[in-house]
Amino acid sequence: MVKFLLVAIVVALAIWLLRGRRRRPDQESRPVPPPQDMVGCAHCGIHFPRGEGVVAGERQFCSEAHREQFRPPR
Ligand SMILES: [Zn+2]
Repeated sequence: MVKFLLVAIVVALAIWLLRGRRRRPDQESRPVPPPQDMVGCAHCGIHFPRGEGVVAGERQFCSEAHREQFRPPR
């Protein structure tokens, strides 16, 4: 009887440990990136996440160089 109780405790402990380990990777190893708007560079047309480029007025550029090279159409 004592042996049975010991086995039951070990099994319960093992299940508890497995549950605790299984939950952590879900929360820590899979950081969900926030959804980002994709915008197109007004100069070359390449798409990049908003916030990584250069903003000039209403236009978005992939880099500072393209912002300087861009000439708005008249
Ligand atoms: Zn560009």
